[in-house]
Amino acid sequence: MLDVNLIRKDFPILSSLVYGKPLVYFDNGATTQKPRCVIEKLTEGYVSHNANVHRGVHFLSQEATDLHEGARRRVQAFINASSSDEIIFTRGTTESINLVAYSFGECFLHDGDEIILSEMEHHSNIVSWQLLQQRHHVVLRVARLNDRQELDMEQFKSLFSDKTKLVSIAHVSNVLGTVNPVKQIVEESHRRGVPVLIDGAQSTPHLKVDVQDLDCDFFVFSGHKVYGPTGVGVLYGKRRWLEQMPPYQGGGEMIQNVTFEKTTFNELPYKFEAGTPDFISTVALAEALDYVESIGLEEIEEYEHYLLDYATERFVQMPGMRIFGNAREKSAVLSFLVEGIHHYDMGLLLDKMGIAVRTGHHCAQPLMQALGIDGTVRASFSFYNTEQEIDALVDGVKRVCKMFGV
Ligand code: PMP
Repeated sequence: MLDVNLIRKDFPILSSLVYGKPLVYFDNGATTQKPRCVIEKLTEGYVSHNANVHRGVHFLSQEATDLHEGARRRVQAFINASSSDEIIFTRGTTESINLVAYSFGECFLHDGDEIILSEMEHHSNIVSWQLLQQRHHVVLRVARLNDRQELDMEQFKSLFSDKTKLVSIAHVSNVLGTVNPVKQIVEESHRRGVPVLIDGAQSTPHLKVDVQDLDCDFFVFSGHKVYGPTGVGVLYGKRRWLEQMPPYQGGGEMIQNVTFEKTTFNELPYKFEAGTPDFISTVALAEALDYVESIGLEEIEEYEHYLLDYATERFVQMPGMRIFGNAREKSAVLSFLVEGIHHYDMGLLLDKMGIAVRTGHHCAQPLMQALGIDGTVRASFSFYNTEQEIDALVDGVKRVCKMFGV
């Protein structure tokens, strides 16, 4: 077991009071809190290493470049990519998916081609493809869920046709916690010659990811969900795809030579990184990944499972309680509704007790439609949460139920 009390000391915000009560932060699926070392890295970047990267001959610029490129290698190691050229820095998961939708879409998708998504996707893995539909008439095919809110693999396999050109699917659902069998999904897709994008926004904070072992073609995630800063994210892509794909945006850095007649583009990964990158944040992201690995992803997974089981056992005993997401492989997310209490009221009243949860559709409206609801209350756990905080949540939910006479 982790020494959670010691870990909590690394996160200054966790000792805050909200309405005079200790903050209980269960909105980790939206963004995680930052350890002091990450906050300090951001400050240190501006205090000591601030100069634009890649362009300067002067000392500071070289130093900033080394730190930024070191961060790229750190990300490469974190997801075990075979080369740092396959790591593209973006603003986050959303931008990474948009980049692939635009660039892969331009190169490899034509009218009538099909993309397989799932019913549990975040809007960023739906709308990005719908924007592509405005340029190419691609067809979105949707993998459905079974009664436990797991992917129905038989139905998924039945979606393939000779028009299928891509599968784009979440590793872990942000609403249900369902961990999708991504390795099997990649195998099934590759057997049919179809590449796979995995949305790792909700897996990287909780599970060890090895992109070579998964053999996925693209893998995307956000720094801010994995204890890093906002404004930086990652697109991993296999070199064979990235080399063929056209640039996503034009600007400085992504070019080799520019004339008014013709421009040639830079090599990987710079071809996809137009403009000044957020080189302060990439270095702080590397620090966050060091921090997470110093705790250990296996230890994190084990402890968070313990918290999830502890919470679930208490929740199922409450009258009128409905839990969404009963997958056999589940990450530390508890989405629920209590009969007769609107999710928004529940969230608002828990907030007054100092408990931060998320309410609403969680950017997954098609999933809400499939579940026949308009939102849930979501408590998403981190390794810095404690049993006592879960007890506070359970007591809080019971108090709200009492107020509503449930
Ligand atoms: N995909 C999933 C599964 C998510 O949970 C989120 C964030 N809620 C995103 C994509 C989008 O991430 P970001 O807003 O950091 O780009």
